[in-house]
Amino acid sequence: MASAGHKIKVVCRVRPFLKTERADDAVAVEPNNVLRVSNPRDNTKDVKFNFDSCYGPDADQATIYQRDVRPLVETIFSGMSATVFCYGVTGAGKTHTIQGTESEPGIIPRAVEQIFMHQQRDALEYDIRVSYYEIYKEAVFDLLKPHDPGFAGLPIREDASRKIFVAGLSEKQVTSYAQFEGLYQKASGNRRTASTKLNNHSSRSHAILTVQVQWGEGARTWCGRLHLIDLAGSEDNRRTENGKDRMAESSAINRSLFVLGQVVEALNTGSLRVPYRDSKMTRILQDSLGGESLGMMVVNVAPGEAFLQDTNNTLNFATKSRLV
Ligand code: ADP
Ligand code: MG
Repeated sequence: MASAGHKIKVVCRVRPFLKTERADDAVAVEPNNVLRVSNPRDNTKDVKFNFDSCYGPDADQATIYQRDVRPLVETIFSGMSATVFCYGVTGAGKTHTIQGTESEPGIIPRAVEQIFMHQQRDALEYDIRVSYYEIYKEAVFDLLKPHDPGFAGLPIREDASRKIFVAGLSEKQVTSYAQFEGLYQKASGNRRTASTKLNNHSSRSHAILTVQVQWGEGARTWCGRLHLIDLAGSEDNRRTENGKDRMAESSAINRSLFVLGQVVEALNTGSLRVPYRDSKMTRILQDSLGGESLGMMVVNVAPGEAFLQDTNNTLNFATKSRLV
C-alpha cells in the first residue's frame, strides 16, 4: 500500500476512442506503469510519466477496482477514512470511472456492494449512512434534498472536538444495496436538473458521495468513512499553463480544485504546511486526507491528439502530486 510520505496514490487511466473520434493516438501505456505522451513535432522528445498504476483503453472496470480500489475500501472497516478522486478534463472519463454505466458499473456501485458484502459476512452490526453533495463555486449543496433556486449553500462548521462538518447536510441510513441505488439515482437526478438550468454546471462542480460505516461493542464505537469524488473538469485548473507553476489563488476559477492539487502535493512530499483551509472541499475533507488516511487520485486522460494540450496539463499536474 502507500509508502511513508506518499499518502495519495496516483493512478492513470486512458479511455478508449469513442466512435465519433478519429483514432490518432497521442499517448501509449508502457511497461512499469509508464505513460508516454507524444511530441507531435519530434517523437524522440516524447515525455514519459510514471504512476502507481497505469491503465490503457482495454482495462475494464473490474480490473481497476480489484487491483487499486478494493484494498482502499477495506481499510474503512478498521476505522479509517479513504478517498478516491477522479481528475481530468471534461470528456476524459471521470464519470465513467467513478460511476460507470448499468452494463459497466464503476467505483461507486462496486464499493457500496463491497461494503454490504462485508456487513453480511461479519457478526457486528453496522450502521451505514450516505451523504451526497456538490460543491459549485465554493458553495455546498445537498443532493439528497433539492434546494430552492436562490439558496446560497450550506455552511461549514467546527464542533467542540474540532471536527469539521457541513451544517444541515442530510445523512440517510441505508440497509441494502437496492435502497442505496434508489437514493443515488434520485440524487443524480437532482444534479442533472441543476445542470440544465446552469450552463456547464456539472462539469464545473465537484460531486462528493460519502459512505459512513459505524459500529460498536459496548460503550466503544468505531467509524470508517469513504469519499468517492467526481471532480470538476480540470480545464478550470490551468495553473501549469504557459509553464508557470503558480497562479494567483484568487484567480483560480475553481478554487477547490486548485487547492486540492496543493494539498495532495503537500501530503505526498511531506510538506509541513498543508493548505486544507484554503478551499471548501479540502476543508470538509481535512480529517480524511491527512494522518493515517489513504487516498487515490485517478488521473483520467483521453487518447487522442485533439486532447494533447489538455493531457499535458493534466499530467503535469498529476506528477506534481506524486513523489517520483
Ligand atoms: P467526464 O466525466 O470526464 O467528462 P465521461 O466519463 O463522461 O467523461 O466520458 C466521456 C465519454 O467517454 C462518455 O461517452 C463515456 O461513456 C466514454 N468513456 C469514458 N471512459 C470510458 C471507458 N473506459 N470505456 C468506454 N467508454 C468510456
Ligand atoms: Mg463527468
